[in-house]
Amino acid sequence: MSNFCCGASKIGGIGTIHQDGITINQVPILYCPVCHDVEIHPKVKENIDVVIKIAQSEGSKRVNFESYMKEIRDEHFFEDCSTVNRGDIHEVIQSQIDISLGLLSFARDIGDIEWQEQLKNRLSRLSQQRDLTTNK
Ligand SMILES: [Zn+2]
Repeated sequence: MSNFCCGASKIGGIGTIHQDGITINQVPILYCPVCHDVEIHPKVKENIDVVIKIAQSEGSKRVNFESYMKEIRDEHFFEDCSTVNRGDIHEVIQSQIDISLGLLSFARDIGDIEWQEQLKNRLSRLSQQRDLTTNK
């Protein structure tokens, strides 16, 4: 799987990216809750290049990607992501913990030590984040 990072798949979400001197808001992204690596969602990568060219020709420094591509509002857009951040960060973390625990028992079954270590690290990061969001 291409969007695997730090033991499990990345989280789908909407974010802001900076590329070629242009700030683009409302971009579908995939991010890792452990190492915070962010990538543009593969479905829109080519469109981002087009939007950057348009912005450069118009002399804009900041654009809203959603106004070029309405499809990203579709609830099925992120159907290939196991977890999607729709604004409820607590729900995102809980879902990630459930998934990581499931993967950890699978990694134990197949005897993959390295994957188990990655998942244990992921779970400890996630539970720290959960504590931060619940103890407010
Ligand atoms: Zn990562």
